[in-house]
Amino acid sequence: MNDRLHATAAPHPAIELERRWGADNYHPLPVVLTRGEGVWLWDSAGRRYLDMMSAYSAVSFGHGHPALVAALVEQAGRLAVTSRAFHSDRLGPFLERLCMLTGMDRALPMNSGAEAVETALKAARKWGYKVKGIAAGRARIVVAAGNFAGRTTTIVGFSSEAQYRDGFGPFAPGFDTVPFGDAAALEAAIGDDTCAVLLEPIQGEAGIVVPPPGYLRAAREICTRRGVLLICDEIQTGLGRTGRRLALDHEGVVPDGLTLGKALGGGLLPVSAFLARADVMAQFTPGDHGSTFGGNPLAAAVGLAALDVMEREGLAERAAASGERLMAGLRALAHPAVREVRGRGLLVGVELAPDFASARVVCEALMAEGVLTKDTHGTVVRLAPPLVIAPAQIDFAVAAFASALRACGG
Ligand SMILES: *Cc1c(COP(=O)(O)O)cnc(C)c1O
Repeated sequence: MNDRLHATAAPHPAIELERRWGADNYHPLPVVLTRGEGVWLWDSAGRRYLDMMSAYSAVSFGHGHPALVAALVEQAGRLAVTSRAFHSDRLGPFLERLCMLTGMDRALPMNSGAEAVETALKAARKWGYKVKGIAAGRARIVVAAGNFAGRTTTIVGFSSEAQYRDGFGPFAPGFDTVPFGDAAALEAAIGDDTCAVLLEPIQGEAGIVVPPPGYLRAAREICTRRGVLLICDEIQTGLGRTGRRLALDHEGVVPDGLTLGKALGGGLLPVSAFLARADVMAQFTPGDHGSTFGGNPLAAAVGLAALDVMEREGLAERAAASGERLMAGLRALAHPAVREVRGRGLLVGVELAPDFASARVVCEALMAEGVLTKDTHGTVVRLAPPLVIAPAQIDFAVAAFASALRACGG
């Protein structure tokens, strides 16, 4: 039905302009959004949608959260960007709060998630040379198959996704890939030159892949015993998304390095950070690393306000309860096209049977039902709404999912 809608409706002029003047590196759903409030989005025709994607978890607090918008506006009018050539009155309090909430010693602010991961890679390698004594130029980092850590050339170089790499080499060497969720394989890949293991506690872009229980605890134990840093990428899973402040908290694991991003910007700005143990962060000295915009007063004010909102509104606890309701509702549909409902908190993936409509077509049908989300990896529909979502809104999403499956012939 949506294919017909595609073929007959004249494309919106805003879509035409993007097509004419933009790069073709995304395949958005054919909707032009003009306004957002809380869990709701409105398109150019005034139609309302429930946001079940929250910009890949960047909008965990909902669109236009009043406290965050107020922090943004107030700070923007006072002082926004200074560069790190000077101190500002906003950065210190933000870094302190970040460290207190995550249990890490030090924080280095960046902007995008990919930059935070690049920062982690640099810190890990230098720690490997200066502290562990790895011979110059030989440091290696173990990563998991199915990883997603951003789109820079070094990061796509260790992706196991062919399309992310194709045409973009040559790539930086020094990465070893192991299957995700297999602790024995992880240990076997660690050699004398390994400085770090980089893991997502739950792989988001790979299709909401939750590792077996105990995997992260085993990874922690292996890294400690073998003298290797455990660096966890919580850019998508962190800040309440999975029902705890960090997804690592489910297994009581404290990493040596941690990346945060997405929701850290309150859904208003790009704000990311690399956090670490003191001796790891101590590898950076003046001139080693930096970012023109990283840690600017505006980002620091909004980031601090975002952390306050997460705590004050109990968003991790709400995500835990809402995630249970969402997954229980989807499983209760007992639909033959639904092969698996998996996830943690409000990071949920619905795996569709391979002979059913593609996840993309199901997302188009969901859009017709007033729910916006995106497919990941062909057969998985991602459901990751703002953490402020109310129970009745979750029930609306579940009912819309049932209708969308029916519309796709199920
Ligand atoms: C989104 C994401 C990134 C990259 O963040 P950008 O802000 O898009 O650069 C890195 N790691 C994980 C786990 C992510 O989900």
